[in-house]
Amino acid sequence: MIAENIAVIRARMELAAKKAGRDPKEIVLCAATKMNDADRVRAAIAAGITCCGENRVQELTAKLALHSYDGASVHFIGHLQTNKVRQVVGKVDLIQSVDRMELLACIEREAAKQGIVQDILLEINIGAEESKSGFAPEEIDAVAASIAQFPHCRLRGLMAIPPVSEKSGDNCRFFTEIRRIAVDITAKKYHNISMDILSMGMTDDFEDAIACGSTMIRVGTAIFGARDYGKK
Ligand SMILES: *Cc1c(COP(=O)(O)O)cnc(C)c1O
Repeated sequence: MIAENIAVIRARMELAAKKAGRDPKEIVLCAATKMNDADRVRAAIAAGITCCGENRVQELTAKLALHSYDGASVHFIGHLQTNKVRQVVGKVDLIQSVDRMELLACIEREAAKQGIVQDILLEINIGAEESKSGFAPEEIDAVAASIAQFPHCRLRGLMAIPPVSEKSGDNCRFFTEIRRIAVDITAKKYHNISMDILSMGMTDDFEDAIACGSTMIRVGTAIFGARDYGKK
């Protein structure tokens, strides 16, 4: 099932990219692996997944110990508490969900301690939703401007989780806004910043995201099936 699902998503990605006049190779499919065990993660990687996104530190740690992600890069995409930063920095290739200054400072301290540079994205609360974390769109520029104060963090781009879309096209304005923010920041040529990664688009809206410039989609349900939140 997982391999078939991935093939269907790849075909849909390719079509969406072509429609937008984009090269499908510009867009990474990141498998959102939460609540899927090591065997299912391995099946996804065997079917060509090159990037896994994990939400919870406990699951990340357990699956790393089982070498579940071997052959793929690992990203952290969930809300990260500062007391768990040590378990994530240096363990993942990219922390996508840097959503507040306190967390950025904490990642900087831990990366410095380990003597590494941690790749990060800034998470934007693009729909200004109470229930979601992330920087406000108007804060992003100031954070990017201050990034030289965090020499052990390398800013690679932006991530966002827009509101649940009711119908196709709903989230285009959010995706377009994120892209605009990235273009503006790139134009300012801040020290040591790239805005190459725009992580936006999930099961319900990834085609719209691709149409609006996404370079990384994070897909869970369409790969693994619906998650059973009742199980735990
Ligand atoms: C679960 C999750 C996804 C994937 O969501 P689906 O709708 O299942 O594709 C993407 N991004 C984040 C941050 C998630 O937590």
